[in-house]
Amino acid sequence: MPLQLLTIPCLSDNFAFLLVNEANEAALIDAPEAAPINALLDSHGLTLTTVLLTHHHWDHVEGLNDLNIAEGLKVVGAKADAHRLPPLTQEVSEGDVLEVLGEQVKVLDVSGHTLGHIAFYFASSGFVFTGDSLMAFGCGRLFEGTPSQMYQSLSKLAALPNDTLVCSGHEYTQANARFATAMHPNDTAIVSRAAETERLLAAKQNTVPSSLALEKATNPFLRAESIETFTRLRAAKDTF
Ligand code: ZN
Ligand code: FE
Repeated sequence: MPLQLLTIPCLSDNFAFLLVNEANEAALIDAPEAAPINALLDSHGLTLTTVLLTHHHWDHVEGLNDLNIAEGLKVVGAKADAHRLPPLTQEVSEGDVLEVLGEQVKVLDVSGHTLGHIAFYFASSGFVFTGDSLMAFGCGRLFEGTPSQMYQSLSKLAALPNDTLVCSGHEYTQANARFATAMHPNDTAIVSRAAETERLLAAKQNTVPSSLALEKATNPFLRAESIETFTRLRAAKDTF
């Protein structure tokens, strides 16, 4: 049975995610803010067994202390970031495979936004949790890594199956859509995704998660065919 995904808007524009198995056990990906996560755990009668952290930024970890947790909660984060993450029960790095809710999860190093940023790939259920690396219609800003690191991180994610759902950390899609259409005003796929983004937001719906196929077809950063193009695009977005 594939795990069920619940998308939780937090703070002003963050997302946390809960994965739920048949036994009503839940795993949380990122903890921006406790209240909306606790509310969902309560209303669905879920037991939180695991927290997976993508990176150390406060808006991805701040809610951890105030979560309603069962005894023996597992907290998983990057070994490279253990010194600046909340206390971890398991430190992981590129290529590690862990078991979460009975499913095998692969850890991918997707540094660039920060160093030590990781993604979690649930192959059987078809989810990848990308935090602030690959985002809907865009990618994270480079605070610590180089353009070439982010380019490699995005290439790694692009190699996953097309029907993978990309669960990213922010509702930044409108700003990303404006940038993408400014760069590619005559690209039908990009223009129509931008229109669909406006429609979803007007209907108060989330634009996250998105399919990897859609990102590969429309995300300017995933479409960049070389590190040079990617570097130029990322710099242009920073001042857009
Ligand atoms: Zn961040
Ligand atoms: Fe963030």
